[in-house]
Amino acid sequence: MPEREALPYILSFILGSVIGSFLNVCIYRLPLGESIVSPPSRCTSCGKAVRFYNNIPILSYLLLRGKCADCGSRIPMRYPAVELLSGAALTGLFYKYGLSLDTLFYAMLTFSLIVITFIDLGHMIIPNAITIPGAAAGLIYNALITDWGRSRDLLGAFSFSLENFFGVLNEVPFLDSVFGLITGGGILFLIAFLYIAVRKQEGMGMGDVKLLAMIGAFLGWKGVVFVMLASSLIGTVTGLSIILYKKGDLKYALPFGPFLSLASVIYVFTGGFRLIN
Ligand SMILES: [Zn+2]
Repeated sequence: MPEREALPYILSFILGSVIGSFLNVCIYRLPLGESIVSPPSRCTSCGKAVRFYNNIPILSYLLLRGKCADCGSRIPMRYPAVELLSGAALTGLFYKYGLSLDTLFYAMLTFSLIVITFIDLGHMIIPNAITIPGAAAGLIYNALITDWGRSRDLLGAFSFSLENFFGVLNEVPFLDSVFGLITGGGILFLIAFLYIAVRKQEGMGMGDVKLLAMIGAFLGWKGVVFVMLASSLIGTVTGLSIILYKKGDLKYALPFGPFLSLASVIYVFTGGFRLIN
């Protein structure tokens, strides 16, 4: 591996953590239906505006020992955690994909998933305000990386067989994106529908359906297959661990959004361990 300069990584981390600071505002305000652009950051206890020198990602939390500078009430651990996670995510993406369109769009995906994860954990909802524009961004990304000249040749020579169909999806990212969106949303919609039909109660929200549709738009059909398998596995292990730890049954439902999100980020960084190719 060629020697890599440290400065771009330090800058990626700083930029990522500053974005993380904004994501914290989204995580707090989106479920309350408040504007995410104004007013500027305030303490959620006393309402005082956070002064700029107390608004430095991660560092301010440490310097203020996790307390508001005005009223002294505790700042949740979530704030520095999201900033750290966002900084690490952007650094990792820059390491893997360099200064590229992939980094830009995978960063949009990853930051969206961070917001979704923490909102779902706190409120058991996944806002349409993220998943619908997110699905559009996934389609745009794959349209931009598609070689349209080659796609036209492939589609001109297309004769329907399953092999041919998946061959075209492999070569034409935009079609893979559309197919990923439809299968992602479709699989979970079917599961949600069957669950309601059998158990007569809602097991999975429409938010999860739209989330996997958005993930499919970014990652294509292979991404959807990987994310379904990996998120179910991680979710099951987590659920069983909670049952063992609490020595009881799992009365409250676990939100599924964080598992879908984690599995998607694993796919972005590993390509699904090349399990499905
Ligand atoms: Zn305060």
